[in-house]
Amino acid sequence: MFENLSDRLGGVFDRLTKQGALSEEDVAAAMREVRVALLEADVSLPVARSFVKSVTAKATGSAVTKSITPGQQVVKIVHDELIKVLQGEGEPDALRIDNPPAPILMVGLQGSGKTTTTAKLAKRLKDREKKRVLLASLDTNRPAAMEQLAILGQQIGVDTLPIVPGENAVQIAKRAKQQATLGGYDVYMLDTAGRLHIDEVLMDEVQAVRDVANPRETLLVVDGLTGQDAVNVATEFDGKVGISGVVLTRMDGDGRGGAALSMRAVTGKPIRFVGLGEKMDALEAFDAQRVAGRILGMGDIVALVEKAQEVLEVEQAERMMKRFQKGLFNMNDLKGQLEQMMKMGGMQSIMGMMPGMGKMAKQAEAAGFDDKAIKRQIALINSMTKKERANPDLLQASRKKRIAAGAGMEVSELNKLLKMQKQMADTMKKLGKMGKGGMLKQAMR
Ligand code: GDP
Repeated sequence: MFENLSDRLGGVFDRLTKQGALSEEDVAAAMREVRVALLEADVSLPVARSFVKSVTAKATGSAVTKSITPGQQVVKIVHDELIKVLQGEGEPDALRIDNPPAPILMVGLQGSGKTTTTAKLAKRLKDREKKRVLLASLDTNRPAAMEQLAILGQQIGVDTLPIVPGENAVQIAKRAKQQATLGGYDVYMLDTAGRLHIDEVLMDEVQAVRDVANPRETLLVVDGLTGQDAVNVATEFDGKVGISGVVLTRMDGDGRGGAALSMRAVTGKPIRFVGLGEKMDALEAFDAQRVAGRILGMGDIVALVEKAQEVLEVEQAERMMKRFQKGLFNMNDLKGQLEQMMKMGGMQSIMGMMPGMGKMAKQAEAAGFDDKAIKRQIALINSMTKKERANPDLLQASRKKRIAAGAGMEVSELNKLLKMQKQMADTMKKLGKMGKGGMLKQAMR
């Protein structure tokens, strides 16, 4: 997600950070480009405008332009401003699902991914929060949709309310509530009917269901690929039924990402989750820090660490995080990372998450960089002595020759590996220094 926006902004900031002193004109020129990039990503005009205005105001103060690294400071200001736009003031509270059985109303247009998201969220609540969840489909017009939810429920091991032909949506909602209470469920989720467009009949039905269920959360599912339309749909649903949060689906596609950036500012409602694929675990909690990092191409350490945690022992992952936090990243760390990549599969996806490697992932793809290449890199590291691995700065010409020969490779290949390690160590240092709000700290939580 956000590839295009990320590429565009990357270009602007590359130029900015290469310059020494910055004039107000430099900042203004960069901000014009940022504005165009945002609009091209389908961010709504008022949001793009106010974003640029706010960054410009903060970036043109003498504290920034006279500082030693004005370019980097501007990037940091943009980063912070992105977080603000993405999440508003302060982070949203956790989903309100205490007081069992807590009703969650799922609303949205047909085809937005509502049923899939309902099942994904149920699985998440079951797996991560150990909640007992009951699912009910209220889509009486489309028996296939009811069937779909039942099948998904079976697949993820979550109960669904038995289908009783002839009942209307309100009757089903009442029965779900009853069954959830009697059955001792923690949460029951109502998957309402969708339409192709917003219409009165649909809204009336959703309102009637809302009134009997009295939901703790009303989550709107919208297709993230539809950009500003997604934001318009959210505004309409919020006006008619009142929503408590938004789930953006299809964020795995190379959509323009504008919906994510406009949503909070325009609707005032938090994005809660993003859908990242068709599989049942392709749902991520929305994290503004992480998304801002992705947009700015700073990689996604948090996602990387999370993913690594699934594979690594927790203890090992924590040790790794502590080192990263101190800005330490030697050849042993790199080897660990490379081995993880092999285990986690999907070279491209992993590289995309690493700091500063977003662009490299694309180059790597073009250069046919694959698992075989990773094995070669690991071989190079294995050919180093313990001391050399811990301190790659030791590697002068003669050592390089010996290592490359030991692994049966050219010194040029070793140089590439060293460059990669250095680049990652530098980024780790920067991120480690970002302090309290930094991404690494975030990841440690
Ligand atoms: P509904 O009509 O709103 O209930 O939509 P469905 O849940 O039936 O989803 C429609 C299609 O979108 C299905 O093929 C889903 O697998 C797919 N889908 C849902 N969420 C995502 C997502 O986050 N990413 C991708 N790539 N596909 C999704």
